[in-house]
Amino acid sequence: MSDMKRLVLLGPPGAGKGTQAAMIADHFCVPRISTGDILRNAVREGTALGQQARAHMNRGELLPDSLMMEIVEERLKLPDCKNGFVLDGLPRTVIQAKELEKIVNIDIVVAIDVGEEEVVRRLAGRRLCPICEAGYHVEFKPPRQAEICDRCGTPLKQRDDDQEGVIRNRLKTYREWTAPLLEYYKRKSILRVIDGKGKVEEVFRRIVSLDLQKR
Ligand code: AMP
Repeated sequence: MSDMKRLVLLGPPGAGKGTQAAMIADHFCVPRISTGDILRNAVREGTALGQQARAHMNRGELLPDSLMMEIVEERLKLPDCKNGFVLDGLPRTVIQAKELEKIVNIDIVVAIDVGEEEVVRRLAGRRLCPICEAGYHVEFKPPRQAEICDRCGTPLKQRDDDQEGVIRNRLKTYREWTAPLLEYYKRKSILRVIDGKGKVEEVFRRIVSLDLQKR
């Protein structure tokens, strides 16, 4: 198979970026680079980065651009990125987008389009197993027994930043800092907007119907 394009996924929190990024990465055998996951791991491990990240994340605010760029630059240097990658969670500001260009050439930006009310509904219902990391949703993908992981029987948790107040703040942060990237990438003619409504598989089909193979 030929290489995949170097892809950035954009969209408000709750648009399904994480899920779609994982599916694209699987399909094309490229890494998914999720800055949110990198930060959550650091929080879990209690590193210095984690301590700095936790406060920002719990308020629904962004971490400093320079710090995020250092993290992503290190990650993009690893050899698994040479046949393409999916970036999920960065850039989140125009400054990050400009810095990213200095590190690597992005071929395509896929923006998942979902309305705000839908996003709040999706995020507020999201649950995660703290042990095996299986993901659930109280409405769309409920576990067999309420609030218990199907796989390992552990009580499910909500991400700290999925509380409604924090969700509203993450959306505000998105509108203010990240949404301008749509215009930014549109001007560069690499933006593709897809409808994020419907089933996970339908959204995935819309994404792979874009030409993601590199020639
Ligand atoms: P996510 O899982 O992508 O929704 O990210 C969770 C949180 O991590 C965000 O709400 C931010 O606090 C932080 N974060 C992730 N990526 C970035 C980034 N590129 N720039 C600044 N903060 C970020």
